[in-house]
Amino acid sequence: MRNAESGISIETRNRRAMSSDGNNHRREEQVAGVISARAGKLLLLSAAVISLLSTSVLAAQTKPLAVLEGKLVTTRGDCPLVEINGHSQSLTAYTPALFHTLQDKRLNGREVRLEGLRQPDGSFQVQWLYTIHNGKLFRVRYFCSTCNIVALEPGNCVCCQQPTELQEVPVVKQDN
Ligand SMILES: [Zn+2]
Repeated sequence: MRNAESGISIETRNRRAMSSDGNNHRREEQVAGVISARAGKLLLLSAAVISLLSTSVLAAQTKPLAVLEGKLVTTRGDCPLVEINGHSQSLTAYTPALFHTLQDKRLNGREVRLEGLRQPDGSFQVQWLYTIHNGKLFRVRYFCSTCNIVALEPGNCVCCQQPTELQEVPVVKQDN
């Protein structure tokens, strides 16, 4: 930044020195060209830095999620699938808790909406799972009524060690 400022002041001095030769109008245009070229280089540099930052840090967040709707299949080994029009898509998950939920036998055959990213190996990485009832979306959670504790994945309650109950909670839209 300091270099650019000193560059501008040098050009301004040159312009003043040239102002007596009767050709100063054209000279001013040239000076303006030099200054804007330097400013342009600085802007380009800033833009390059910003785009580098955004591609490395924000790539995961800015990539739009794909949506799959179909029937969840949790009973074929450890790998959960979603069936869409007779085609089976293998599933992975963004978190271990979500993967364990996708493996829950109680969810077998459910109509689900999956939001996530297609992976290079052909699998689909789920980031959000919803069950669908009568066209409405529900979140899946696990609940211990004894301890009044919510868990994000199937298994026993972390407090009393009793099995938790699978619950589906209607999704309430933010704008309603
Ligand atoms: Zn409990």
